[in-house]
Amino acid sequence: MRIGIPKEIKNNENRVAMTPAGAVNLIQQGHEVFLETKAGEGSGFSDADYKQVGVNIVGSASEAWGQQMVLKVKEPLSEEYGYFYEGLILFTYLHLAADEELTKALADKKVTAIAYETVQTENGSLPLLTPMSEVAGRMAAQKGAQFLERPPGGTGILLGGVPGVKRGKVTIIGGGVVGTNAAKIAVGLGAEVTIIDLSPERLRQLDDIFGWQINTLVSNPLNISEAVEESDLVIGAVLIPGAKAPKLVTEAMVQTMKKGSVLVDVAVDQGGIVETVDHVTTHDDPVYIKHGVVHYAVGNMPGAVPQTSTVALTNVTIPYALQIAGKGWQKACLDSPALCKGLNVVNGCVTYKQVAEAHQMDYTDVQKVLDSKT
Ligand code: NAD
Repeated sequence: MRIGIPKEIKNNENRVAMTPAGAVNLIQQGHEVFLETKAGEGSGFSDADYKQVGVNIVGSASEAWGQQMVLKVKEPLSEEYGYFYEGLILFTYLHLAADEELTKALADKKVTAIAYETVQTENGSLPLLTPMSEVAGRMAAQKGAQFLERPPGGTGILLGGVPGVKRGKVTIIGGGVVGTNAAKIAVGLGAEVTIIDLSPERLRQLDDIFGWQINTLVSNPLNISEAVEESDLVIGAVLIPGAKAPKLVTEAMVQTMKKGSVLVDVAVDQGGIVETVDHVTTHDDPVYIKHGVVHYAVGNMPGAVPQTSTVALTNVTIPYALQIAGKGWQKACLDSPALCKGLNVVNGCVTYKQVAEAHQMDYTDVQKVLDSKT
């Protein structure tokens, strides 16, 4: 198969969908890889690094997009919709429940859109989201600590305190991958950490991992409002796979926070869990202040640490890309129920229930599409 890798165009997005090491895997299986020139530079990989392993370097985005399958990192932006064509296989992060315009563009052009973030194994884990959630979670605590400093508008609290001075309080809502990694860094910084999750089973696991270093609370509006009010830093880390994030932190709760407290809503890529997070921010302009509270809502946090993120992402996407390239998407999805869960739009139909519901579009069972194609 001919595989295209365009340069990412989102603000400060320096990741690339494939390392030279990943390309070797595809080329060894007889596939051809076409990389847009300089696409790897932000991640520390030059065109020469790719050429050396047999990748074809192309001069324009349209040449990279013109291949049978396109691998990307972030969802296509509206400037890229013009590259869509019927039958194109697009394998990337899509977050369609939060993006009606993109969902419709993919359906209109009959692109086969497979979303990294909804590929899901039998035990419910999300293998292609996990490494980026690990990165974003660790960054969330770092960013929170940074924006609590006085110059960018924070209260001026050092999360770990010092002897004789109180430590800062961190509440993490959602104790999955992002939440656990945020907790590791926040605990490491010496903060007083509370994790809130809906699943008592998950809270038991977190209690086993962190012991007395954290408090755990079951997610309900009262626990959330009390924890938010007394926190210096709140991290939003909830996920309902494929669906829009629930607004768990209301505007009234935000109004109870101390001036200069910080909200880092990592779940903003799924719409965010904080009511006052009304737009996605960028690495260039990452925060805004509302009700005196610093809001950080960058939708592509791992893009700021591309040398780590690109390698971590390719490590997990390559096995699936190899299956799609080797067998075609239909057979690959029939053979792998995990990959099949990644199918969001096929042949003009929305095949992921929560995405169809989010935009009041018709939902088509993926099995029906697969049966009709075999
Ligand atoms: P995950 O599935 O590992 O964890 C989600 C957790 O949320 C689960 O433990 C679940 O029990 C919990 N949860 C569900 N409903 C809840 C509720 N009502 N109250 C409290 N907890 C609830 O997901 P993850 O990988 O940790 O991802 C979390 C979010 O971070 C997702 O929206 C993901 O897309 C996003 N993310 C954003 C970035 C970014 O750059 N902004 C990067 C990576 C991931």
